[in-house]
Amino acid sequence: ATPPTIGVRNYDIPALRELDVAHHLPAQSSYKLQQDLGGSRIITHAQGSTIYDGEGHAILDGMAGLWCVNVGYGRPELAEVAARQMEELPFYNTFFRTATVPPIELATKLAGLLGGKLQHVFFNNSGSESNDTVFRLVRTYWGLKGEPNRTVFISRHNAYHGSTVASASLGGMTFMHAQGGLPIPGIEHVMQPYPFGEGFGEDPEAFATRAAQAIEDRILAVGPENVAAFIGEPVQGAGGVIIPPPGYWQKVEAICRKYGILLVSDEVICGFGRLGEWFGFQHYGISPDIVSMAKGLSSGYLPISATGVSSEIVEVLRASGEEFVHGYTYSGHPVSAAVALRNLQIIEDEHLVDRVREDVGPYLNAALQRLADQPLVGEVRSIGLLGAVEIVAEKGTNKRHGTGGQAGPIVRDHCIAGGLMVRAIRDSIVMSPPLVITHEEIDRLVGIIGAALDASMEQLAAL
Ligand code: PMP
Repeated sequence: ATPPTIGVRNYDIPALRELDVAHHLPAQSSYKLQQDLGGSRIITHAQGSTIYDGEGHAILDGMAGLWCVNVGYGRPELAEVAARQMEELPFYNTFFRTATVPPIELATKLAGLLGGKLQHVFFNNSGSESNDTVFRLVRTYWGLKGEPNRTVFISRHNAYHGSTVASASLGGMTFMHAQGGLPIPGIEHVMQPYPFGEGFGEDPEAFATRAAQAIEDRILAVGPENVAAFIGEPVQGAGGVIIPPPGYWQKVEAICRKYGILLVSDEVICGFGRLGEWFGFQHYGISPDIVSMAKGLSSGYLPISATGVSSEIVEVLRASGEEFVHGYTYSGHPVSAAVALRNLQIIEDEHLVDRVREDVGPYLNAALQRLADQPLVGEVRSIGLLGAVEIVAEKGTNKRHGTGGQAGPIVRDHCIAGGLMVRAIRDSIVMSPPLVITHEEIDRLVGIIGAALDASMEQLAAL
């Protein structure tokens, strides 16, 4: 194989695919499938909401990378800011009361956006790391506050909070727990607020009450004096764009307050405009004590995450005089922080949050309704620029094809072949496009899903 050459659309893709199999272990992948398929799909460049693969296919990116490229691809401002910061100061750590300029500015900006009591920010590199920070911070807080028995976290089945040992344990993905002997002790999982899957045909208010009650029941079973925090995504993303029924979050917040339990909002997907507000907790009108942020914080241009923390928690740490012995080499990385700050300015300058709430969010919702009559579609749902299409074997039910979980990937593959990148989560097709997506692109996105469903009918019937 000839060595790959540098240059857009000038790579030796067959050679790269061979090298991919020989040496590269992609994330969250079957290495057998990678090999059987002769290597990974290689994306070479992107612009706006469109990615290009090594074969020269233009693919509409219905996933914004991995729920993260909120401002779209090809933003020269972000490259310029990164280059300038690299020249001025590529790195210095934030250990032992040192800082650099960008993380201070970014923390200040985030405190303003978060508002209220969320006035402090700890930086990490990924959503997983942010949730590891949450895990250690919450337990440290309760210990210093004189309630060391408050160690238990309550989370939900099918939640996604990351891939590290603590964050995967906080998450509720049983197939992840199965690898590596997770979850670690002290984490309780309760039912998820998934109306289509677990409350089919149930009155939404009754379902909201039932799903929230599961949390209170578990608190009482564990003993409220042992419970440290409840963690949840405002809308579960990787679980399948699971939009809780109205009233659910108010009930959850009230339960947390009743028992003095910290409320943690994992905003890794929902933050930075995805739901049409800066943060998902603002959409639902609740006041978390801790917030995890990543992805849209930098629109994925560089890795960075942030953990927003309430003043009350910081006061307890301050009063103790103790060091918080936690942090990563790249906590508050100056280049990532500078890029994130500039990214937030783009979101503000272009009014992208308002655009999601008032324009493209409702437009996507209306466009998805065009799929509702397709014979395979059990439900379409969306909130802001997060959407899902549920595939069912029998219209009017939530019954799945075969043993469940096979239909989604078939439809997804037809979507990709049709020029649309979406994700299959079990038997739903989910989307999370860049916030800059145009009406024409939304129409195309929905049209391709419709055509993919039509093209999948026979294959699905055979399952
Ligand atoms: N929390 C949520 C809600 C997420 O969606 C993700 C990633 N999909 C994470 C945490 C983990 O983030 P990362 O992959 O950056 O570690």
